[in-house]
Amino acid sequence: MTEGQHNSLAANASLGAGDSLWQACVDQLAQELPEQQFNTWIKPLVAQVSDDFSKVTLYVGNRFKLDWVRAQYAGRIAGMLEKMYGQPVQLELAITQREALARAFQPAAVAPIRTVTEPPEPEEDSASSAFKTRLNTALTFDNLVEGSANRMARAAAMHVSGTPGQLYNPLFIYGGVGLGKTHLVHSVGNKLLADRPGAKVLYIHAEQFVSDVVKAYQRKTFDEFKHRYHSLDLLLIDDVQFFANKDRTQEEFFNAFEALLAKKSHIVMTSDTYPKGLVDIHERLISRFDSGLTVAIEPPELEMRVAILINKAKAESAEMPEEVAFFVAKNVRSNVRELEGALRKILAYSRFNQKEISIQLAREALRDLLSIQNRQISVENIQKTVADYYKIKVADMYSKKRPASIARPRQIAMYLAKELTQKSLPEIGELFGGRDHTTVLHAVRKIGGERQQMTELNQQLHVLEQTLKG
Ligand code: ADP
Ligand code: MG
Repeated sequence: MTEGQHNSLAANASLGAGDSLWQACVDQLAQELPEQQFNTWIKPLVAQVSDDFSKVTLYVGNRFKLDWVRAQYAGRIAGMLEKMYGQPVQLELAITQREALARAFQPAAVAPIRTVTEPPEPEEDSASSAFKTRLNTALTFDNLVEGSANRMARAAAMHVSGTPGQLYNPLFIYGGVGLGKTHLVHSVGNKLLADRPGAKVLYIHAEQFVSDVVKAYQRKTFDEFKHRYHSLDLLLIDDVQFFANKDRTQEEFFNAFEALLAKKSHIVMTSDTYPKGLVDIHERLISRFDSGLTVAIEPPELEMRVAILINKAKAESAEMPEEVAFFVAKNVRSNVRELEGALRKILAYSRFNQKEISIQLAREALRDLLSIQNRQISVENIQKTVADYYKIKVADMYSKKRPASIARPRQIAMYLAKELTQKSLPEIGELFGGRDHTTVLHAVRKIGGERQQMTELNQQLHVLEQTLKG
C-alpha cells in the first residue's frame, strides 16, 4: 500500500482522545508484530471509538479480512485497549461499505467513518471555508496541572503563547504517551487566540499533515497548501515521529518550517522522543527541530498525580478526598490517561451504587486494575509509601537523623513493616539503615499503643495500610 492510500484512509482520524487510545494500540502492535503482518492487517484498520471509550469498532475492507482479524488479532487488541484504558472495552468488527471505502480512496472524499468524539469537519481546504484552527478549546493551561514533571515544558509553552515568534522557536516537547503533550500544545493555541483572536493558529497531528501533503500532491494544489501553511502565525504539530519514512512530507514540512521561521511565526512540535532519537527522519529536519528549545515532559510524580485526580474530580463536580486520591495515585502510576481512566471508573461506581467516594469504594471500583499488579508488600515499598505520605525523603528512612518530623514517620514505617511483612525485628532493623532490633521493637510498641489513643494517627495508618494492600 502506498503512502497516499494509507493516509487518505487515516485522514478521517479527527483527533479526539479516542483516537489517541487507538493510536497507542496501533503503536504497540507495530512494535510487537512482524512488519509484514502489521502492514497487512493492522495498518489498514479504521477505528471508531465511542464517546465513553466503552466500545471500539474496527472497520475492515471485506469479509475475509474481517474473519482473519477477528481470529488472529481481536483478542489481543481488546486486551490491549482494556489495559491502556483501564476499563473493559467492547471490540466490534465491521465491514466498511464498499461505496464508502471507494470514496475514502478518492482524494476528494469526505472520510467515510468519523470518530464520534468530534463533530464532523467540513472540507477544510476548500477555498471558501473559514480558517479552521482545529483547536480543542477544552484543553487549556487552566486545567493542565503543573508539577515538576511538566514545569519546564509548561513554562516554555506559556512563554511562547504570550510572545510567539521570539524565544524558543521552534519549541520541541517530547515525552511518553499520555503525559499531556497534546494538551499542552492545544493550550498554547487557545491562549494565543484568547489574547489575539485574529491570530492564525493551526493545530495538526503529524499524520494529518502527511495526508494533507498527499492530497495536495494528488490534486496538484500545492500552491494552496503552501499558502495555507506558510501564512500561519502559530503552527502546532503533534507527534512528529509520524513523519518517519515519509520523504515527500518531510520535504514539505521542511519548506513550511523555513518559511514560518523566516517570518517569525512560531512552531511548536511534540514527539515521543527527543530530536536525535527520531528515526527515519532527515538529518536536516532533526537539526532544525533541535535548534530552538527542546524540553521533556516526565511521568507525573505522586503529588502531581494526586493534584490531577482532585482537579479532574472537581471538574466532574465530584469530591475526591485527598486520602482517596493518594490511594489511587499510589496505585496508578504510568501516565495521566490511566489516571483519568481510574477516576472515571471510580466516579461511575460511586454514582451507580450511590455511595460516597472512599478508599474502600476506590478499591472495589479498581479491583481488576489493582489485582493485575503485584501485591507483594516489601519493606522498601513501605518506606517509600510512608515517606511520600509524610513528604520526607526515602533516604531518611535509613539515615541517622533524629528530628521528630523524620523520626516519627520512620517509626511508623517500622511498625507497618512488622505488621504487613513476614520480616523479623532484626531484619527490619537492618533494612532501616542497620538499626538494632530493640529500636524496631520500641517503634512497633510505641506506634501500636498510640494508635489506640490517637484517632488522627489511627486514621493515617489506616490510609497507609489500605494503600499498601491495594
Ligand atoms: P500525550 O499527548 O502526551 O499522549 P495527552 O495530552 O493526550 O497526552 O494527555 C492525556 C490525557 O491526560 C488528556 O486527557 C489530558 O487532558 C490529560 N492530562 C495530561 N497531563 C495533564 C495535566 N498535567 N493536568 C491535567 N490533565 C492532564
Ligand atoms: Mg498526544
